[in-house]
Amino acid sequence: MLSVQDAIDRLSAAAKAPTETETLALADAVGRIAAAEYRAIVNVPSLDNSAMDGYAIAFAPDLFLPTSFPIVQRIAAGHVGTPLQLNEAARIFTGAPIPPGANAVVMQEDTEADGETLRIKHGVVVKPGQHIRRAGEDIARNAVLVQTGEQINAARIAKLAAGGIGAIDVFKPLRVTLLSTGDELTEPGTPLPEGGVYNSNRPMLLAMLRELGCVVTDGGMVPDNRAATEAALSAAAAKSDVVISTGGVSVGEEDHVKAALSALGSLDLWKVAIKPGKPLAFGRIGTADFVGLPGNPVSAFVTLLVLVRPYLLTRMGAAHVQPRSFTLPAAFDKPKPDARQEYLRATLGPDGVGVVGQQGSAMIAGLAQADGLVEIPADTPIAKGQLVRFIPI
Ligand code: AMP
Ligand code: MG
Repeated sequence: MLSVQDAIDRLSAAAKAPTETETLALADAVGRIAAAEYRAIVNVPSLDNSAMDGYAIAFAPDLFLPTSFPIVQRIAAGHVGTPLQLNEAARIFTGAPIPPGANAVVMQEDTEADGETLRIKHGVVVKPGQHIRRAGEDIARNAVLVQTGEQINAARIAKLAAGGIGAIDVFKPLRVTLLSTGDELTEPGTPLPEGGVYNSNRPMLLAMLRELGCVVTDGGMVPDNRAATEAALSAAAAKSDVVISTGGVSVGEEDHVKAALSALGSLDLWKVAIKPGKPLAFGRIGTADFVGLPGNPVSAFVTLLVLVRPYLLTRMGAAHVQPRSFTLPAAFDKPKPDARQEYLRATLGPDGVGVVGQQGSAMIAGLAQADGLVEIPADTPIAKGQLVRFIPI
């Protein structure tokens, strides 16, 4: 059996990084991977500006604060004022540039003004620099906004925009075709024949792959016979970078993926020391890579997340491919170790990571109940309070 890390490493070693790029407007780049580094062309904020609606004042910090200031100008956001003399005030609004000479903003609530004269309320203390956002304090000009290999999300889009970047180069998306094998599979929303099973892997994996940023094509359901499997695989391979299937990779007589792949291209069948999971197929058909996930829904979910996700992200051009994880205390005992590395469906509670009741590899309810997976290394018993790795899902 291959260890989990060996399986991840083998897959990643076979994953070539993308080369083709395209330029997209920021909002269209969500989920895509940056193909270049971008730096701020301006300071953010570009000028010192007011953090409050109120009055910018020029005062001498070492002297008593005057009781009143003449209001000599009004500065709204997007407009630039003129220099303030000592003991003068400017009406100012949030985001408006601080006029030269001003050294504090007094918030409106601390003042009384009649339009011509500003009075600061009794007892209000004014500190030099207060309520002023400094130029470049958020992002300095020329600071890196996004690095090559970072996945673009809403927050990074905001950062790029604030730094003056309107469009970016991203890698072309990875085209994935998903196939579901199994004579028993039935489309949800249609009546279930006797012996049928609703196809839950298909929408689950379509959702996971889309969330990851792949462009996914649904290759449909493939009956359990050699000819249909070969036809579906070669059609899928012709129009995708990666073909992913579920089921049919065990050693049963109705598992046709191995034979079909061997005829069309090449295939390695791995036994990975992972639970749930174990059988995983990796191969090639023409110019496409092929990944065969196990049929049990929880196994398909876990193997996609743990083993295949790093490979897919590498192929997408991502620099960070490991799932986010947290080290937390176990709120459960698991005295019996397993020879395989386990991923239990887990929930977060006040005492740390708990495990859901239904852990079978076909138990979808337990998966839906889980906040994440807890990783239990092979041959390792776990006692309450011990630190474990938690991967949110
Ligand atoms: P297999 O690997 O083809 O032997 O399938 C293992 C188990 O997973 C069987 O109980 C299948 O019925 C089930 N299974 C396979 N594919 C799916 C699917 N797409 N949705 C739900 N269950 C599935
Ligand atoms: Mg099957």
